[in-house]
Amino acid sequence: MSEAKTKSRKAGKSAGKQAETLTFQAEMSRLLDIVAHSLYSEKDIFLRELISNASDACDRRRHDALTRPELAVTGGDYRIAIAIDTKARTLSVSDNGIGMNRDELVANLGTIARSGTAAFAASLTGDSRKDSSLIGQFGVGFYSAFMVADRVEVLTRRAGEDDAWRWTSDGKGSFTVEPAARDAHGSTVIVHLRGDDDSFLGRERVGGIVRRYSDHIPFPIVLAEDGGEPEQANLGAALWTQPKSNVTAEQYAEFYHHVAHAMDEPRSVLHFHAEGAIDYRALLFVPGARPFDLFQPERQSRVKLYVRRVFITDHETGLVPSWLRFLRGVVDSEDLPLNVSREMLQDNPVTAKIRAGIVKRTLDEMERQAKDDAPAYNAIWADFGAVLKEGIYEGATERDRLIGLSRFRSTAGDGLTSLADYVGRMKEGQDAIWYIGGDDAAALARSPQIEAFRAKGVEVLLLTDPVDDFWIPMVGTHDGKPFKSVTRGGADLSKIEGGDDKAEDEPAGTDLGPLTAAMKLALGERVKDVRGSGRLTDSAVCLVAGDHDMDIHLERILRAHKQIDKAAARILEINPKHPLIKGLAEKANVDASAPVLKDAAWLLLDQARILEGEQVTDPVEFARRMSKVMTAGLG
Ligand code: ADP
Ligand code: MG
Repeated sequence: MSEAKTKSRKAGKSAGKQAETLTFQAEMSRLLDIVAHSLYSEKDIFLRELISNASDACDRRRHDALTRPELAVTGGDYRIAIAIDTKARTLSVSDNGIGMNRDELVANLGTIARSGTAAFAASLTGDSRKDSSLIGQFGVGFYSAFMVADRVEVLTRRAGEDDAWRWTSDGKGSFTVEPAARDAHGSTVIVHLRGDDDSFLGRERVGGIVRRYSDHIPFPIVLAEDGGEPEQANLGAALWTQPKSNVTAEQYAEFYHHVAHAMDEPRSVLHFHAEGAIDYRALLFVPGARPFDLFQPERQSRVKLYVRRVFITDHETGLVPSWLRFLRGVVDSEDLPLNVSREMLQDNPVTAKIRAGIVKRTLDEMERQAKDDAPAYNAIWADFGAVLKEGIYEGATERDRLIGLSRFRSTAGDGLTSLADYVGRMKEGQDAIWYIGGDDAAALARSPQIEAFRAKGVEVLLLTDPVDDFWIPMVGTHDGKPFKSVTRGGADLSKIEGGDDKAEDEPAGTDLGPLTAAMKLALGERVKDVRGSGRLTDSAVCLVAGDHDMDIHLERILRAHKQIDKAAARILEINPKHPLIKGLAEKANVDASAPVLKDAAWLLLDQARILEGEQVTDPVEFARRMSKVMTAGLG
């Protein structure tokens, strides 16, 4: 407050002439409490986070200065300075980057603005031990400073603005914002170290942390102790410009942490320099875990575009198709103009060529991994397969390669299988690739509709990604064999040899005609048909869709998304070999109007619905009938 500046602020903003104490968003306070008390094994990472932010701020200012030259740093040198003050027991990180104005300070450092932090807050359990371990997975950026600090100060001035601001907090529920003085534009984060730990006050130690975590930062990081001579502590060159042979796995991983704002270890690294008609470098990563925004409706890539080492944007670059949007990293083009706009990027031959190059290299690498290191590839597939399959549905040029890369759960075992392997295991006489769609592979594996397939030893793919219900009908066949849903149309397995022929062997014996007729009469419009089943061995009943109807699971997805409002009537299949059905059939053959047949018809339909994970038709009626039948059973 003492340093209140007299420069006038824009009209309409009365706030901020004096120190104001604001409270953190409620989730923020919880989070800070956990950060402060977490037993984070590597406290050093707070420095990495502050340097990462300083680097982002330099990137942003350099970018903004492309269109507003008055924002540029005089002399053009961006840099990050770390100062150790052993007497004051502070460690400060200064940058001459973009800086923040008052509103940005409050928004960026007072609320949960980052998706990662928000995801972290959302997953907090309230059990502090469990929650501490979550930090390791999510990372909390700026707030990690509270692991080592009892107070953090941020002194900042937005490029192009006159007023400077000080943000201060002890990380315990509130923070203060007040006017301050700062000669140059940029930010300084001052970490007041807690009393018990001197380790961050040593030049050697801090220099070591910088080299370990921030060597790749493309701006010089200089380090000074107690006002001494500053020395550069990092390499200071863009990592992606270095020859591959000079870069260690650790450096790649640390660069990934910085560029992706992620804490996990990347699953694969793609680093190349394309020269020729167009010249660009790319350093891309397949993340070790699903990024939080993977399934957000925008389906946007976050890969950063640089032009000749200058950061341009990470939004709508058009460099990566949406079905590779999980990739993180940078692309640095020599050919695009520095002032390239979003519109220019969208239909630009250079962008299109880079995109084609990235797609090709990424798929090459995945194919190589699938061949050489199947477990590693399967782990990538488990996290990102659902996204890759969007490319098949969208009809990407690489559709066939993507189908080749696809992996599936199946009834053949616990692992993942490719379509090629499935086809290789097809039975003599099997003419289709069978699949069943649903939400949960374990539940699908126990579906009544696949009983006869199991008995015959016919493998069924268990598809649990919603996108499967869309790309499969669209692709239609693979290797000349049609995809067929086991819950749709007839399932004639009689041509297939072998297995345990329980499904076909015993003659059904009893005539089902009167029973199916009586059931149809009882159920009316509720079912499309009632018929004997060739796909059941153990269960009494199941529901299937008609030949020309939509697959059951697809219909359920569309209904959940309000794309269609009514479910089509299903075919109720009954198992001629099941004792209950046999008994009912005998009864129907004697007296097709016996009242028990009507109750049985409804109970069987409801049973089939429950097996599908749907609700009974009418819970009150269901309960009444159930009690009635059970009572009769007692007598
Ligand atoms: P992230 O870096 O993932 O966005 P952080 O928690 O590290 O999340 O930082 C939160 C936000 O605070 C940043 O997005 C940025 O807007 C702002 N910020 C932090 N440090 C700086 C800085 N040195 N200069 C300018 N803005 C900063
Ligand atoms: Mg950050």
